[in-house]
Amino acid sequence: MTSEANNIPNIVVVGGGAGGLELVTKLGRKLGKKGKANITLVDSTHTHIWKPLLHEVAAGTLDSHEDEIEYLAQAMCSGFRFRLGKMDGLDRENKQISVAPTYNDNSEEIIPRRSFDYDYLIVAVGSVSHDFGIKGVSEHCLFLDTISQAETFQTQLLEAYLRAHTQDKPLDEGQLDIAIVGAGATGVELSAQLHEVSHLLTAYGLDEVQPTDVKISIIEAAERLLPGLP
Ligand SMILES: Cc1cc2nc3c(=O)[nH]c(=O)nc-3n(C[C@H](O)[C@H](O)[C@H](O)COP(=O)(O)OP(=O)(O)OC[C@H]3O[C@@H](n4cnc5c(N)ncnc54)[C@H](O)[C@@H]3O)c2cc1C
Repeated sequence: MTSEANNIPNIVVVGGGAGGLELVTKLGRKLGKKGKANITLVDSTHTHIWKPLLHEVAAGTLDSHEDEIEYLAQAMCSGFRFRLGKMDGLDRENKQISVAPTYNDNSEEIIPRRSFDYDYLIVAVGSVSHDFGIKGVSEHCLFLDTISQAETFQTQLLEAYLRAHTQDKPLDEGQLDIAIVGAGATGVELSAQLHEVSHLLTAYGLDEVQPTDVKISIIEAAERLLPGLP
């Protein structure tokens, strides 16, 4: 619905990823700042990170906080508004989206369920890795689609290292094995970063673990690494 207060259109963009963030920034500068439209970005997280960096966050060679863009700060500079929350409903007849409540780590509700009217709606929520319905994958594998997944991997890697460094018995067979599914750019770069990290952690003092204790495997259906490249 056109904003009744100032009779200008409401443009709502859901998803502040590579596509959505650039779009709201351009729309905000071109229309929002000139009062020609209300531009609103809705995202389920506070910050944007360029996804091709996620393997570095996972390996621990990049502090994600150094490379993130705060949506609120970007909004303030670029003439759009940011609203935190996960879109979970669309009413096309009434031109309205609904956004689920947001909870903190203690499961306390911080932001109640909300809805936003739009004249123009752009849904730019990206994609997630496909497990091809293979049994056990979603329960037992880690994925690398979001910052929190990358940070989870990083935490588990460090914990595995600390456990191995301090245990009073030899390492079990395969205790520090890492299997990466997919030999595209992310899988190959992740394996290279992990190889480097295995040397760094030993150098930094976790020296009960040797780089040779960490076996990194890449599993790929194609006949070679980086099958997408010529
Ligand atoms: C590990 C990794 C490495 C990659 N490397 C490369 C590369 O080297 N080169 C390359 O060209 N591409 C690469 N890609 C692909 C590239 O990142 C994507 O093509 C690109 O990010 C897609 O942009 P997008 O705006 O469509 O979605 P995304 O960038 O995925 O953004 C989607 C946004 O929507 C938000 N969102 C999702 N659901 C909701 C919801 N219901 N409500 C509100 N917000 C929501 C998310 O929080 C996110 O901010 C890589 C991807 C990954 C995961």
